[in-house]
Amino acid sequence: MLTRRFFLTNGAIGLAAWFGSSRLFTVLGAEEALQVTHTDAEWRKLLTPDQYAVLRQSATERPFTSPLLNEHRPGVFACAGCDNSVFSSETKFESGTGWPSFWAPLNEQVIGTTRDTTLDMIRVEVHCSRCGGHLGHVFNDGPKVTGLRYCMNGVAMTFEPATT
Ligand SMILES: [Zn+2]
Repeated sequence: MLTRRFFLTNGAIGLAAWFGSSRLFTVLGAEEALQVTHTDAEWRKLLTPDQYAVLRQSATERPFTSPLLNEHRPGVFACAGCDNSVFSSETKFESGTGWPSFWAPLNEQVIGTTRDTTLDMIRVEVHCSRCGGHLGHVFNDGPKVTGLRYCMNGVAMTFEPATT
């Protein structure tokens, strides 16, 4: 993990300089370490425009727009880019922010994090560890269980209800 993080950070700096923007750094920097990779043209075909903007360009959906915000059934939330299960309904909570929020990922392997300094803020970016797709950010003002608030873009995920 340390190696990968190191690689991501350094890749980010180089690519950010190249593109004059750090929006693409996670995806491009992580490419070689990922299990699921596609060309940019393939991602554009595979994803809806909104999914592409969030997952591949680190856009943020408008708050209170995701149907997953009010998804309260038991089940699993998966990355919309590669179907990697990333969050469980058991850790979902109402943050009041307008974005689906969780206090923990399904496990530590399913997501990766990088430092995000865009928008003049220092934030921790959260992405899918399998395809590198941007999912959201994690903040340290979550509920007491972990103290973390994983602030996710609903459009970047799909929901699979639990089968009983
Ligand atoms: Zn993914």
